[in-house]
Amino acid sequence: MKTKEQFLAATRAYRSRVQRMAWTFVALMVCIILLRLKILHLYLPIGSTANGVLGVILFLILSPVMAFLILGYLNRLPRRLGLICPECFAIPKPQEIKVIQKTQHCPSCGALFFL
Ligand SMILES: [Zn+2]
Repeated sequence: MKTKEQFLAATRAYRSRVQRMAWTFVALMVCIILLRLKILHLYLPIGSTANGVLGVILFLILSPVMAFLILGYLNRLPRRLGLICPECFAIPKPQEIKVIQKTQHCPSCGALFFL
């Protein structure tokens, strides 16, 4: 079982990593958009059907991959940081973390979350 300090440190680490991931995601999207503008328009004229179709295909392929990677990361992160209930192994939702800090109990099973 964790102490309250360890739990608070883990929640801080969780928040900063989620923030860092969000910024990485934004930067990646900007890079993709810029690359697409730069590369595709060398070969295909802007506004052409082929360019539009390629854009849609890229979007359809990239968005599920991105969503899969991001959701997988967000799923693993609390477990890796030890932000799970020691009794029922439930992962607290972000809005539940404040409740746990206040009550010290797991919102799912009521067990003591930390010492
Ligand atoms: Zn629990």
